[in-house]
Amino acid sequence: GDHRDLHSFPTRRSSDLLVATQAASLVLALVLLFDAVWFAPRAAALVVNNLADAAMITAIYAVVRRSRSARREPAIATFLVASVALASTLVPLGATSSVDFMTAYIPIEMLGVALFAPWNIRWHSGWLLLASVATAAVAHESLGGRLGPQGLLDLEAVIFAAVVVSFSGYLVLERQRQQMFRQRLLLHHVMLEARTQQRRLAALAATLEEVATRDPMTRVGNRLRMDEDLTQLRAIRPGAGSAALIMLDLDRFKAYNDRFGHLAGDRALQQMAACCEAQLRAGDRIYRFGGEEFLVVATDIDAPDAVVLAERLRRAVADLRIPDPDNVPWGVLTVSAGVSPAEQLPERFEDWVRAADTALYAAKAAGRNRVEIAGSSGPVPADVASESVA
Ligand code: GH3
Ligand code: MG
Ligand code: MG
Repeated sequence: GDHRDLHSFPTRRSSDLLVATQAASLVLALVLLFDAVWFAPRAAALVVNNLADAAMITAIYAVVRRSRSARREPAIATFLVASVALASTLVPLGATSSVDFMTAYIPIEMLGVALFAPWNIRWHSGWLLLASVATAAVAHESLGGRLGPQGLLDLEAVIFAAVVVSFSGYLVLERQRQQMFRQRLLLHHVMLEARTQQRRLAALAATLEEVATRDPMTRVGNRLRMDEDLTQLRAIRPGAGSAALIMLDLDRFKAYNDRFGHLAGDRALQQMAACCEAQLRAGDRIYRFGGEEFLVVATDIDAPDAVVLAERLRRAVADLRIPDPDNVPWGVLTVSAGVSPAEQLPERFEDWVRAADTALYAAKAAGRNRVEIAGSSGPVPADVASESVA
């Protein structure tokens, strides 16, 4: 639809037909008025007839100008005006005895009808040829013509006017069409440009959002992303569903940095974050909470399963087997975890996070490389821990 319209040259049919109809009806009304005045001394009946016709054609012109349906169906308007034009020729032929000059109307009407056709060189040349033949027939004495010299003069004036009107109308419309076409092309380019800019802006916004909410080193979400996600989670499911926080912290990581350097420490952090992220279900998220601390937000999970998940994370990091001689007695890099389960999403996240943090400190205090659950005073029961390890 749209696309084709933009690239095809604007159609000339309906709007041209309407403009032609309007122009023709104006010309006809003027010719009839002029005739009424010109021939008044010769035929009173003609005056009455022509004035009535001129009024009727003017009325139709006004209706055509205003009506929406005429704009959609200009053929109807054309038909109306053409009928009146023909009637204005044929009716006086019967109504008046002055047949002599009435025959002159036949070529005039032909020209009028030619004006109804869409502006088009081929159409008009055909009509003009026919009109010329008809003119010769009514004018030439040997062909039985009955038009006097004065009538012939009138006729030539009208033919000339019709040709001028027809051709100038054609030129005007042609220029308008080309202008319209150029404007549409311009509009099309502007729209394309706008769409490209829009896409570029959207991509830029996505990049900015990505940069602003993702930790560049470990590639997991940052605090900002965490706050946004938690707010969204609360908005989507207010008070609904169980959830759990797991706060993770690398054990004796300062010593690791001191021994291997910060670049090696960074690599270990990256490995650890990727390893933990790989352990999570689709709906669960891990964020870099700060330094070497990470926070997992898991949804639709009860307390025992949250502990199982934390155990799995702890185990997975140990299984990376990143050598760390200072982290006795394991000799590899390990994490401690604090779990804070909730039957429903808590209203205050600060308390929820603080509970996970407290559990994490308990895990550190109890010897590291272990999981503690918030609210329980002792370490995680052995059966839960061993179940997850299996
Ligand atoms: P604990 O087992 O009690 O957690 O001991 P720890 O040494 O891990 O604890 P502490 O908080 O004293 O030290 C954290 C260390 O983590 C200090 C810092 O050098 C290191 N760290 C934090 N962020 C980064 C980081 O982005 N890159 C590297 N290489 N090290 C980091
Ligand atoms: Mg630490
Ligand atoms: Mg720490």
